[in-house]
Amino acid sequence: MLALHPSTDMTGNTPNYTVRESIRARHVCLKVSHRGQVEVVVPHGFDARRIPVLVRSKQAWIEATLRRIALRRDAIHNENANWNTGGDALPDIIALPAIAEHWQVTYTATDRSRVTLTVDAAHARLTLRGNINDVDLCKAALRRWLICKAQRHLTPWLEHTAMEKNLPFNKARVRSQKTRWGSCSRQKNININCKLLFLSPQVVQCVLVHELCHTIHMNHSQKFWALMKKMQPDYAALDMQLRNTRGGMPGWIE
Ligand SMILES: [Zn+2]
Repeated sequence: MLALHPSTDMTGNTPNYTVRESIRARHVCLKVSHRGQVEVVVPHGFDARRIPVLVRSKQAWIEATLRRIALRRDAIHNENANWNTGGDALPDIIALPAIAEHWQVTYTATDRSRVTLTVDAAHARLTLRGNINDVDLCKAALRRWLICKAQRHLTPWLEHTAMEKNLPFNKARVRSQKTRWGSCSRQKNININCKLLFLSPQVVQCVLVHELCHTIHMNHSQKFWALMKKMQPDYAALDMQLRNTRGGMPGWIE
């Protein structure tokens, strides 16, 4: 296999690539792995003489993809790759302190127009496949995954806390909100922000208790804070931590 390093010169030479014949493939498909290897997948019985022309016709796309991979590779060496440095940064690692999980993210470019995300839970790995040059599509796929993740973890957590504190609520919904960690309606419906997954478990617990206390007091009156203190005696310090994390969210979720 010929591996092409993304930083090799791209002065119009056809990129190195490997060819794989697939019984399942119906069309020719170009793939660029996150390591920058270009693979041409062809249907069974495809005339191999047509491949060089096909690759040349996709050269601009291949080069754009390789440049993006090279940029991302540089970002990996940055300790803070998970945290935003520019509007276009996509994560290679997603740390979710709230549930003590650490996910690796890899990107594989194919010439599809969409981006799909697959989850390999056993290896804590997410793979985004498709039009990964479109940062917005990648961010949307990651956001959808994060919301599912939050539904699976934060909703039972809220239910458990509600039972423990004897503060029943009606319905819970997970959303990706810009300005609020959570909210509670008069009907005792609670919204929780999926971004809570980026915070410590203690701070998440405090936010959940806060919203549950609103099922009793729909305001921030003295009575509310008295109930809060009873339910979560150390809430003041956790509130402080929460205020300090504002703005410290990974760029791809903002
Ligand atoms: Zn409140």
